Amino acid sequence: MSIPFVRACRALAISLSLIAAAGCSKEKAAPSQAETSQTSGKSDPAKKEGAHAPAGVKPGSHEDWCEEHQVPESQCTRCNPDLIPAFKATNDWCEEHGLPESQCTICNPDIKIVRPPKGS
Ligand SMILES: [Zn+2]
Ligand SMILES: [Zn+2]
Repeated sequence: MSIPFVRACRALAISLSLIAAAGCSKEKAAPSQAETSQTSGKSDPAKKEGAHAPAGVKPGSHEDWCEEHQVPESQCTRCNPDLIPAFKATNDWCEEHGLPESQCTICNPDIKIVRPPKGS
């Protein structure tokens, strides 16, 4: 006699869990919307190209220059942390300032890193 009631309860429980699941997937969808707005706000290609060398430039050329850090882009450990082990391997590393010693103007104020002239 009470069986239909139990079934009704189960059906209700199932539909409730479905609603909960739907609510979860809705929550998951929200961050992706935020991501899209972040990437669209980030896109400022003109500024990026001016400050940093494009990929594939000749190392040591005028184009190989990080405007932001005033060092050759191919040697800019702040833009490309992958370079750090190579500097450490040659003992060209200032642990205190997190820079290659040859780029550390704090320890070596005499260092002048000059951008190569155009056409070199
Ligand atoms: Zn840089
Ligand atoms: Zn230093």
